[in-house]
Amino acid sequence: MKTFEEMDLIAPLQRALKDEQYKTPTPIQAKTIPVAVSGRDVLGCAQTGTGKTAAFALPILNHLGQRNRKAVSQRPFVLVLAPTRELAIQISNSFSTYGKHLKLRQALVYGGVGQATQVRAMNRGAHILVATPGRLLDLMDQGHINLAQIEMVVLDEADRMLDMGFLPDVKRILSRLPRKRQTFFYSATMSPTIVDLAKRMLTQPVNVKIQSNSVSVDKIEQKVLFLRRDQKQESLRSIVTADDAGQVLVFTRTKRGADVVARKLDQSGVNTAAIHGNKSQNARQRALEAFRKYRVQVLVATDVAARGIDVDGITHVINFDIPMDPESYVHRIGRTGRAGASGIAISFCTEGERRELREIQKLLGSSVRLITDHSQAPTEQQHRSSTPHSKGRSTSRSTARRSSSRRSSTRSFAQASTSDGKPKNKRKQRKGRNARQRVKQASTSKR
Ligand code: AMP
Repeated sequence: MKTFEEMDLIAPLQRALKDEQYKTPTPIQAKTIPVAVSGRDVLGCAQTGTGKTAAFALPILNHLGQRNRKAVSQRPFVLVLAPTRELAIQISNSFSTYGKHLKLRQALVYGGVGQATQVRAMNRGAHILVATPGRLLDLMDQGHINLAQIEMVVLDEADRMLDMGFLPDVKRILSRLPRKRQTFFYSATMSPTIVDLAKRMLTQPVNVKIQSNSVSVDKIEQKVLFLRRDQKQESLRSIVTADDAGQVLVFTRTKRGADVVARKLDQSGVNTAAIHGNKSQNARQRALEAFRKYRVQVLVATDVAARGIDVDGITHVINFDIPMDPESYVHRIGRTGRAGASGIAISFCTEGERRELREIQKLLGSSVRLITDHSQAPTEQQHRSSTPHSKGRSTSRSTARRSSSRRSSTRSFAQASTSDGKPKNKRKQRKGRNARQRVKQASTSKR
């Protein structure tokens, strides 16, 4: 399956894909869309950035578009469950984009805001309901939503759903769904609890696994800068003001850290916003929109708040702090290099963070390059001798990945070590300049 045209999708969807200039399906799309269109359940192990939203949205829209039915008050045909409001909004935007030539209605239901508009949308009738679990149950309990007519259901980011404590809610929702339905189940990781939940929900599914590092290894240039804690802020400033920087997403470990980093950067003249769990839903949404529309160049986020952020054109992801676990690292850097684009991920590592870095290296092998272009950093030789790989200690997983990514690693290291902070690639320079220009224009017109 090479192109979307070869897929059995109705004309209004083909047109929308042309409008979006999608030419080649991503691996998860190529593997799941044909089987989903034929009616099979799908169990997908994939993270955001792989194109998984279209992988479930297109078969759903195809199904609804072929039937041409009126929406029924309070009784949607399709339910998409997402763990966070941000992800729910993004999914809903994707349905609008791919379904723009179809006459379908959707409703968006999430907590943290008044329910009146959501209730009105449900009363009017929606073919598709995109919802977070808590508010969905609230509205179901109040009699505003009935799931008896659901034909297709999506559980997106199931692992995050469980991390956030939604398992009991999800089970309650499942118990209200008709048995005869088509189910798409997506998770970035497959823990035993997730596998158990998937078994309950799915009937003879097609299993698709997209390697978690397939996004990062190929398209994202990963670097680690060794520095002292007190050097991080200044290093960040020089990265975001360099010529190749467009939209930059920065991750900190704590909410307070996110606020401090954002405030200092903003004070130094870079338009910056912060998003984390202590901010109200509205403040989070405003910050995200400002970032998406280039009104701010830098968004500083914590892991949970950034989950599901899908903004095209993020040129850099900066790990201001090394994440606690390797899976978060993969999630974080996956915010750049979205579906085919390239991106740069730079992690700041202090002496105290080397243990976490080693865990990441174990998972990803040598796709994480250790860069020494910082004045305080040890030489590459010095550092190599301190990495687990050089001592011949490595997992079989990392060994396999290392050999497969050796070529790209050599290439990227050569680029990085000659860079001295000055980008070599002219197109990247232009892209960065254009993006900053847009940020400036947007902030000028705001005033
Ligand atoms: P997702 O993994 O669903 O969050 O998608 C990541 C990004 O890839 C989104 O910005 C999509 O618009 C984009 N995208 C999805 N599928 C394709 C495709 N086949 N070609 C180009 N871009 C795509």
